[in-house]
Amino acid sequence: MFTSIAGRTVVVTGATRGIGKGIARVFAGAGARVLIVGRDAEAAKATVAELSATGAEVSHVLADVSVREDCQRIAAAAAERYGGIDVLCANAGIFPATPLAEMTDENIDEVLGTNLRGTILSVQACLPALAASGHGRVILTSSITGPITGYPGWAHYGASKAGQLGFLRTAAIELAASGITINAVLPGNVVTEGLDDLGEDYLASMTAAIPLRRLGTVEEVGYAALFLATDEAGYITGQTIVVDGGQVLPESLAAMEG
Ligand code: NAP
Repeated sequence: MFTSIAGRTVVVTGATRGIGKGIARVFAGAGARVLIVGRDAEAAKATVAELSATGAEVSHVLADVSVREDCQRIAAAAAERYGGIDVLCANAGIFPATPLAEMTDENIDEVLGTNLRGTILSVQACLPALAASGHGRVILTSSITGPITGYPGWAHYGASKAGQLGFLRTAAIELAASGITINAVLPGNVVTEGLDDLGEDYLASMTAAIPLRRLGTVEEVGYAALFLATDEAGYITGQTIVVDGGQVLPESLAAMEG
């Protein structure tokens, strides 16, 4: 059994839906107080209502993680409502597909701004509170796409997700002095509203490429994040956990036959 994290304050960015909502649900189920971050007010309220119905202490703050002032408001809201931050799950991210030959400055800036700059800004803003907690934990949601694999249309996305890991490795060294660990979960293909938008053909072809023959659930990513937030994971920093049903393993299509 792991030491309970009940009563700890967890900030989850991009938690109005998808993987972030799954992470929030897992932490709320473990008794943590959860601050949900996103830009969509209706979705945020609905998520808070859904998770609060189980008796968990959950609230939201509307913020765009690519904006420094918004990230500072997230940290301020956590301080005001809960007295600090013990865990930051920097999960907010977008994955619009664009062929490299057609990629505009706006396309690049949007993806890098949310996924990479947003990661750095949200971690920066929460640092004083995480240091004060005495057992601060940061968990980034990266991806297999970029760090390990590639997919047409996602050159900018892959760069942002690999960039998160470059950030992670130096941040881990700098944050160690404050007793903060920082690690990342690398999901494969996980059933979310964002992934659904890619269409049935995409989902079917991905399922066929996964040794466990199914897409992941948001809670399966949440439990990996929860483990990294435990006291027992306190000696792990600067590392990654792949949560992909074995998708990165086959060396050829033939490896998936039979
Ligand atoms: P999703 O269903 O589209 O949800 C994305 C979440 O991020 C939403 O809650 C959205 O909230 C929030 N968000 C987007 N831009 C934001 C911004 N600028 N500021 C604040 N919040 C923002 O996507 P998902 O599939 O759950 O993906 C979540 C994370 O997992 C991303 O980092 C993604 O790269 C990563 N990932 C997903 C998969 C997968 O298979 N689904 C695989 C690998 C990695 P609002 O709309 O309310 O702002």
